[in-house]
Amino acid sequence: MRTTKLPSGEAVPVLGQGTWYMGDEPRRRADEIATLRQGLDLGMTLVDTAEMYGDGAAEKLVGEAIAGRRDEVFLVSKVLPSNASRSGTIAACERSLRRLGTDRIDLYLLHWRGRTPFAETIAAFEALQDAGKIRHWGVSNMDVSDMQELLRAPGGDAVATNQVLYNLTRRGIEYDLLPQAQQRGLPLMAYSPIEQGRLADYPELEEIAERQGVTAAQVALAWVLRQQGVIAIPKASRPEHVKLNRAALDLKLTQEDLDALDDAFTPPSGPEPLEMI
Ligand code: NAP
Repeated sequence: MRTTKLPSGEAVPVLGQGTWYMGDEPRRRADEIATLRQGLDLGMTLVDTAEMYGDGAAEKLVGEAIAGRRDEVFLVSKVLPSNASRSGTIAACERSLRRLGTDRIDLYLLHWRGRTPFAETIAAFEALQDAGKIRHWGVSNMDVSDMQELLRAPGGDAVATNQVLYNLTRRGIEYDLLPQAQQRGLPLMAYSPIEQGRLADYPELEEIAERQGVTAAQVALAWVLRQQGVIAIPKASRPEHVKLNRAALDLKLTQEDLDALDDAFTPPSGPEPLEMI
């Protein structure tokens, strides 16, 4: 598995697994757990979840999937902005730890910006680090100006990642947020890299997919993974999907492929507000 480095120097896999909507449907539960475990077997050991997903149901499912394998996993979870006060963040993290059945979260993110000043949430993250309950902290859905403000806040320069929407149909970050993060050595985590499955059906990807002998979704994922400092966290709840996603990491897009993708999905020519799903 290819890795990238957090600002601390710790290596993390560039391809992980998302979990949004997992645990919502009892009849799919067994498949979802088996798929997550298969992903771990394939080296996709970075697992992304959040207290928001299914109101804790996804964290419980992740806890079950990683039971007995905790040390293999780089576990990411998120606190809701409505819980992001100093005491609220600590209480939310403790609830997440209980649901996940673990004593630590490897990377704990502020899910998006709310009304709580950054300094207060950072103070909570630092207290959680001191207590050994989280190892790193980061943010999600932060645009350029949010990042500038975060980095100016006390302790803000310890941010380990910004998790943002990034795929062929959402290229805005290439203009500013992505190069700025790369310059700082801050990995970005690309969420919804297959545009929630919609890129699997884009005719623009079919020709390249055929030429390469892969699927359109694999082309979309390989495209996100083509850059240094970008971690992709596709969600798959079917074993065949997780296998295809792992194989996409080994897919080399040619210059011809990349040019065709630039024609079909125009890169940004100026600043664009950060999109969110
Ligand atoms: P996604 O990963 O782009 O797409 C997931 C969908 O694509 C699922 O329907 C899945 O189907 C399908 N799929 C997966 N692999 C496939 C393949 N190889 N071929 C065809 N279809 C495939 O969308 P996402 O779940 O929104 O994003 C990924 C993760 O990012 C989330 O699960 C979550 O952990 C995180 N996220 C974070 C935020 C945030 O605000 N920070 C927002 C959105 C998402 P099956 O499930 O049936 O396999």
